[in-house]
Amino acid sequence: MQRFARSLKRRGRIGFVPTMGFLHAGHLRLVQAARRQADSVVVSIFVNPIQFGPKEDFRRYPRDFAQDRRLLAAAGADIVFYPRVEDMYPAGFATYVEVERLGEGLCGKSRAGHFRGVTTVVSKLFNIVLPDVSVFGAKDAQQAFVIRRMARDLGFHTKILILPTAREKDGLAMSSRNVYLSAEQRAQAPVLHRSLLLARRLIVQGERRAARVKAAMRRLILRESDGRIDYVEMVDTDELRPVRMVKGETLIALAVFFGRTRLIDNTIVRA
Ligand code: AMP
Repeated sequence: MQRFARSLKRRGRIGFVPTMGFLHAGHLRLVQAARRQADSVVVSIFVNPIQFGPKEDFRRYPRDFAQDRRLLAAAGADIVFYPRVEDMYPAGFATYVEVERLGEGLCGKSRAGHFRGVTTVVSKLFNIVLPDVSVFGAKDAQQAFVIRRMARDLGFHTKILILPTAREKDGLAMSSRNVYLSAEQRAQAPVLHRSLLLARRLIVQGERRAARVKAAMRRLILRESDGRIDYVEMVDTDELRPVRMVKGETLIALAVFFGRTRLIDNTIVRA
């Protein structure tokens, strides 16, 4: 792949979309954005074992390579990079990349080591694919911020583009994990988006106290679903530190379990 990337680079800009596969319309929008920004588009499909905790869903994570390949061809991708685990992590692998602080709160709290796994694999993918522009989704906001900081800190030669979250008609953020949901859980899950809209509305109406906004979101989620809240948090968009008051750009993010399925969503407000 790296040798091939060097030859692609001589012909123009390389756009790159890293994914774990089982693609949906949200992923395909990233591919289309890469298409507009670059001369060749590489998409990687790799369910990265080192970003999953021992009790998480690595083994049962949904996979469908044949379908992904068809979707990617239709969306205008040129190359699918589909390495095996032993290609990425050969025996003796010992080097990890870690972004301090940004990966510790929010999802980092309940998924110890997750972002270290993400930044390590994305670093390796950047070195293999040699992208000029790499496209990520705002759906995984903390991941996007961590990767943007890593690229800046370590001088990766790629622009980082972050695209808005693609949603189903009822507001639920598209996710490969939505297939885990039962019909009842699927019907309840849009409350996550509604709680973010409620937060926006409260802030537009003048509420600045984060505690008040978070409490209102929690109440709505618990009233309208059987979801178990992992976190509802409001942080600044630079260091991702919890804020007491909404001032400037604030990321409102949440993670909620529906049964064993952990869903995340977020929005950014400016006050
Ligand atoms: P994944 O395969 O879930 O690891 O996601 C691969 C890329 O697609 C990441 O940059 C995600 O943030 C992005 N992505 C996943 N779901 C969405 C969505 N609903 N809208 C926009 N981007 C998404």
